[in-house]
Amino acid sequence: MNEVHYAGLRETVQEVCAGFSNEYWRARDEKREYPEAFVQAMTASGLLGALIPKEYGGMGLGLDAACVILEEVNRSGANAGPAHAQMYTMGTLLRHGSEDQREGYLPKVASGELRLQAFGVTEPEAGTDTTQLTTSAVREGDRYVVNGRKIYISRVQHSDLMVLLARTTPIEQVEKHSHGLSVFLVDLREAIGNGLTIKQRRVMMNNETNELLFENVEVPASALIGEEGEGFRYIMDGMNAERILIAAECIGDGRFFIERATERAKERQVFGRPIGQNQGVQFPIARAYANVEAAGLMTEKAAALFDRGESCGAEANMAKLLAADASWEAANMAVQTFGGYGFDAGYDIERKFRETRLYQVAPISTNLILSYVAEHVLKLPRSF
Ligand SMILES: Cc1cc2nc3c(=O)[nH]c(=O)nc-3n(C[C@H](O)[C@H](O)[C@H](O)COP(=O)(O)OP(=O)(O)OC[C@H]3O[C@@H](n4cnc5c(N)ncnc54)[C@H](O)[C@@H]3O)c2cc1C
Repeated sequence: MNEVHYAGLRETVQEVCAGFSNEYWRARDEKREYPEAFVQAMTASGLLGALIPKEYGGMGLGLDAACVILEEVNRSGANAGPAHAQMYTMGTLLRHGSEDQREGYLPKVASGELRLQAFGVTEPEAGTDTTQLTTSAVREGDRYVVNGRKIYISRVQHSDLMVLLARTTPIEQVEKHSHGLSVFLVDLREAIGNGLTIKQRRVMMNNETNELLFENVEVPASALIGEEGEGFRYIMDGMNAERILIAAECIGDGRFFIERATERAKERQVFGRPIGQNQGVQFPIARAYANVEAAGLMTEKAAALFDRGESCGAEANMAKLLAADASWEAANMAVQTFGGYGFDAGYDIERKFRETRLYQVAPISTNLILSYVAEHVLKLPRSF
């Protein structure tokens, strides 16, 4: 995002992040520990409640400001991943929840009394093809009974609430596959141990992600968000915000790699001169810079459209694609610039390299974005 925008907000984020050195992140990464103190500090500063309207105790800022927050977090060498979900999962509740649900949860989420950090969509069999998910929620009187499996669901062990997408009408009985899915706000404190079993999966980076097994988990009917059967639309609604926010994190990562690599290229002496004096070292840094700046502009455009309530599907997808590509290219460049030190955990490049790799795959893979642009923007024939 444009560096001049939100200069004060940037400073606030930088101040919070300054309390969490790269050593702090290195240690969490080595032990695969949740950065509890960091998430608490982000919550206490109000930053994680940036998008929650003031009437519910949040900062009432736009998506462009939220982008600045996540960008600065990642730029500092930190990882917004353990904390970011609250920003977009909250939107489902805000836009589609009842007034009772909004009043009941949002002020507590804003104050940190409750964490809404988990978002359960992906399944082992369904994967990218979300409408094929088979986790079912069957209405029985004043509750729903949930059965099924989810995979790679992040932060469940550090969240009180989870937004869950489940099928309430069997796929054979709906006109369109996207119908018959519903969204629930599941209270994890009640569900875990009462039919919900969690098994953590170790992944490439320090991200608490889990396999979930639902066996007759009872969820009160009051946990349903919006109308039954409309869940897919609600989730899709939130995805533009998610993609733009993730793009901002990628921009932050890209800037981290470029700043570190530039510093290193100026200081590191080989053959009696700084390595950055060689154009073979300069050019990849300059190219990465140009690509990150361009992706930043698309992210800014997408956020501005979103904040004005205008259609932003194409821009949100392109921002995520370009920013994820730019940060990944910058990561590769940084490893190359650091040489052997790029592989050394003590220099943080390899940790951030692993972290930024995720964005080519999650929350949406590059291929699926290209397919969106081809089909919906360029009107090429539908592929699947
Ligand atoms: C660390 C981590 C954290 C995650 N956290 C969450 C979370 O909190 N909540 C959640 O719900 N999910 C989460 N996910 C899941 C993530 O969103 C999915 O992994 C991602 O959407 C891809 O789905 P998949 O793994 O099933 O891949 P698949 O659907 O199996 O796809 C595999 C590959 O095939 C490609 N592909 C598939 N179909 C096509 C096609 N028609 N054309 C071209 N290419 C195609 C895809 O692009 C992809 O590269 C997380 C994943 C990870 C790794």
